[in-house]
Amino acid sequence: MPIHNMMMNNTIREDFPILQRTVYSKPLVYLDNAATTQKPRCVVEKITDEYFNTNANIHRGVHFLSQQATEAHEAARRTAQRFINAARPEEIIFTRGTTEAINLVASSFVYEMMSPGDEVILTGMEHHSNIVPWQIQAARSRITIQVIPVTEAGELDMAAFEKLFSEKTKLVSVTHISNVLGTVNPIAEIIRIAHARGVPVFIDGAQAVAHRQVDVQALDVDFYAFSGHKIYGPTGIGVLYGKEKWLDRIPPYQGGGEMIASVSFEKTKFNDLPFKFEAGTPDYIGSTALAIALDYVSDIGLTAIGRHENELLQYATEQLSNIDGLRIIGHAQEKSGVISFLAGTIHPYDMGMLLDRLGIAVRTGHHCAEPLMRIMGIDGTVRASFALYNTKEEIDALTAGIERIRKMF
Ligand code: PMP
Repeated sequence: MPIHNMMMNNTIREDFPILQRTVYSKPLVYLDNAATTQKPRCVVEKITDEYFNTNANIHRGVHFLSQQATEAHEAARRTAQRFINAARPEEIIFTRGTTEAINLVASSFVYEMMSPGDEVILTGMEHHSNIVPWQIQAARSRITIQVIPVTEAGELDMAAFEKLFSEKTKLVSVTHISNVLGTVNPIAEIIRIAHARGVPVFIDGAQAVAHRQVDVQALDVDFYAFSGHKIYGPTGIGVLYGKEKWLDRIPPYQGGGEMIASVSFEKTKFNDLPFKFEAGTPDYIGSTALAIALDYVSDIGLTAIGRHENELLQYATEQLSNIDGLRIIGHAQEKSGVISFLAGTIHPYDMGMLLDRLGIAVRTGHHCAEPLMRIMGIDGTVRASFALYNTKEEIDALTAGIERIRKMF
């Protein structure tokens, strides 16, 4: 059944108990999905079930519960592997989220693969989490950051990108989808261009995996990261995919239990992949619940989800464009279900606060992308972002809310 027919039946919305609640006595209209998604019942029930029935620390125990919990964690790794079509489960590292995955690669890759004066290429539309870890390493290791410019429409200037390469370029790190503009970047082309020059590529998939199918082998991407909480999973868990050849070469990010084969004061030997990068007790409850979320998304199908969200984006773009003085920020050819806007001279914060009083949750501000704000010549935006459970009626509520607030000013 097409997803929007399923929406009509409200079957999907019923999976998300929070969507039934009211705020300020108004039905909740949740349009802040790029920040975090709501959780289906099956994910929350899995967390409860794990704590009630299977909880034990993993990998080290000989007892029944520990073995069961270990198998659940490793099965979750295989689910994540299948979800992005990685070649091997060892190439899936569980992290706290996208931010930790980027910090891991920035720290370990720069340490092993880069020398003072070497360069990493980022873009002008990165989230702070794909800027600041590189700046920290730049200060420590004296590497340099190059930036792909962003056009007025909110797309990457690909001609300028090609000109940024030099013999010093050691890595390209780019977001798959902009959390502010919704721009879907041409990552297959970016990877092809970088690989033609022998340069590996990291893709920040935080805004992508819940909205479109990602196949890391087809992309031939070197590293790919995402967060569980943005794909209907729990907070505190995420995935770093890395090609085995890189993960084998770069050193551990953190030290501790689990990541070692043997320890002595004379010589410590690190564990094999993926454990080399999972120091300490991992979030084995989180990984197991994340696997449920990934299966939930797979069962509905990313093609259907993408189609539904695209319909919402088209509809919202039409409706918002009809509002006097409203300006949409970001007109990329290919966009995901994220729409940033400014309504006349109304400050984004005022708009966000007043929409909130109508029960409509949107995000306002710089969206952790201050350099992009500067490029666009603005201080911030109001952002509505869509998920598989949103409806056209909710966009109507947003449109009516903006109109009402506009008349107040
Ligand atoms: N990259 C992008 C594009 C994002 O939108 C976000 C979250 N807003 C992140 C990275 C960081 O994700 P997390 O906070 O889950 O680590």
